[in-house]
Amino acid sequence: MQIRSKLILGLLLLLSGITLAIWLTVQLFILPQIEATEMKYRYMDLERVKQAIQRDLNRLQSFSLDWGIWDDTYHYVQTLNPEYTVSNLTGLKLDIIGADLFLISDGDGQILNTVLAGPATSELLASSKLLNQPRLSAEHPFNMVVNQGGTAILDTPAGPLLLAASPILPSNGEGRLRGTLFFGKFIDTGYRQQLVDRIRLPVEFKLAAAGDGGSKVLFLSDTESLAHGFIPLLNNPERELCLIIHRDRPFYQQVLRLMNYAIAIILGIGSLVALVAYGFLQLSLIKPILQLKHQAEVFGNDNRLYHFKPVRRHDELGQLSRSFYKMARKLEVSLGLLKTERQQFMDASLTDSLTSLKNRRYMEQYLETGMQSAETHSWLLMALDLDHFKRINDVHGHDVGDLVLQQIAGLLQELSRREDVLVRYGGEEFVIICKNIDEQIGCTIAERIRQQVARFHFGLEHAPFSMTCSIGFFTLPWAATRQSAHEWLAMFKVADLALYAAKHCGRNTWIGLKFIGEPPSSDYPQDARQVTQGLAENRLSSFSSLADGVSIRWP
Ligand code: GH3
Ligand code: MG
Ligand code: MG
Repeated sequence: MQIRSKLILGLLLLLSGITLAIWLTVQLFILPQIEATEMKYRYMDLERVKQAIQRDLNRLQSFSLDWGIWDDTYHYVQTLNPEYTVSNLTGLKLDIIGADLFLISDGDGQILNTVLAGPATSELLASSKLLNQPRLSAEHPFNMVVNQGGTAILDTPAGPLLLAASPILPSNGEGRLRGTLFFGKFIDTGYRQQLVDRIRLPVEFKLAAAGDGGSKVLFLSDTESLAHGFIPLLNNPERELCLIIHRDRPFYQQVLRLMNYAIAIILGIGSLVALVAYGFLQLSLIKPILQLKHQAEVFGNDNRLYHFKPVRRHDELGQLSRSFYKMARKLEVSLGLLKTERQQFMDASLTDSLTSLKNRRYMEQYLETGMQSAETHSWLLMALDLDHFKRINDVHGHDVGDLVLQQIAGLLQELSRREDVLVRYGGEEFVIICKNIDEQIGCTIAERIRQQVARFHFGLEHAPFSMTCSIGFFTLPWAATRQSAHEWLAMFKVADLALYAAKHCGRNTWIGLKFIGEPPSSDYPQDARQVTQGLAENRLSSFSSLADGVSIRWP
């Protein structure tokens, strides 16, 4: 993976990691905490409703207690004084007290008076048949309230009824019980509305089959909660008054919203920061690394430092770049030296140390590779040997012999063109390879060399002497030059045969050979016999410096 891709991946992972961390923190720690708090508050809501209902019961009871020990009430029960009815009971404003029902019974349960909040309550009671008897029997639900401590909620056919009862006694609290006084309030829509306004909780009431009695809070979704509370009904153990509070979950929703905002902000700002960080790292890290890599590759390819500019920095990358540059410089210098030395060795191995001409190895290489030139239309292969050179060594000494070899080399250089290849083939034998020379120019060149050698003053200045040479050459047109090195050496052999013939014809002579017509692609003459056969069959023609009428004697 590319370093740039790695960097992008790292930044993306970092961003995702932070986002995931926030999401997990909210999901694992914050939201459960909020849920627990919400649950606690929903149970408290149920408790508040129960307390509010209890307060209403207590209020009804305090009214009933107050009226129960009122002497007028006591006397009324005794005498059924109509004045009391007028002054208190007919003027009783039940809605101010917050009650639907007021009832007085005497000690035998005989209903002495009933006051109802309005026609609706009367209808309700009539339909429920709750008070259709003139007397409250001992089993009547109202009497159960008396035994229960004065307050209770009753299950009635007209709906749940809050009922408070108190005994009617003399004002000093002493004396015989004369009757019972009741205040009641139905849990109807009006009551519910008042309660909702008072305690500001959206409570609903329902009568439900009795269950385990415990309160329950449920979270229906991220936005809704449902709380159920139960209050027992005194006269019906099979049913309970069920309180239902259906509320939304603003806290929870807010935290979810905040989390989404936080994640959006982190992703937004994080992306920006990541972008800036990427740009910074790209400039400060990736670009120099890629530059270094590129330079190393270029250096690896051509071993040249001219493309290399050390990264101008003071950090580790700068140090690395400079170290690499130093190392590469050393390598470049060493490689340069090596190359020069190699070239020197190559040159030395292909050069004759005495005459500084090319040597036989060079000639063999040249024949192998250098003669595939398309611009060349003909070749001249010329072999030259000094005549009686052995005598020079014998008479003048070996040093003079060496000097003569150097002098002939210099002379041949003067007489040849720059593009000709001049080779010391061995001992005192030399080879000249010329391009684009046909047999006529070949004859001219051979004659000029022969004459110049014969005229030259060889040896030391104070004791010069002359020398002659013998020359053999072979020319061939371009069509025959697409040959292997092996074929070239075979062709060179033809020039050598001509040289031997020149020696045989008395030395200080040149002899040339060429094929008549198209030269063969192989099977060149290998010895003098094959040459004479070729000449006899008119496949070959010869030229020489011999006088007219003198024929070449082949050895
Ligand atoms: P010919 O006319 O038949 O060529 O006779 P030649 O004496 O020139 O030929 P031959 O092959 O008999 O002798 C060649 C001599 O060249 C023999 C050898 O001592 C001498 N020679 C070969 N290489 C060198 C060299 O590097 N320096 C010197 N001084 N002499 C050399
Ligand atoms: Mg010789
Ligand atoms: Mg020789």
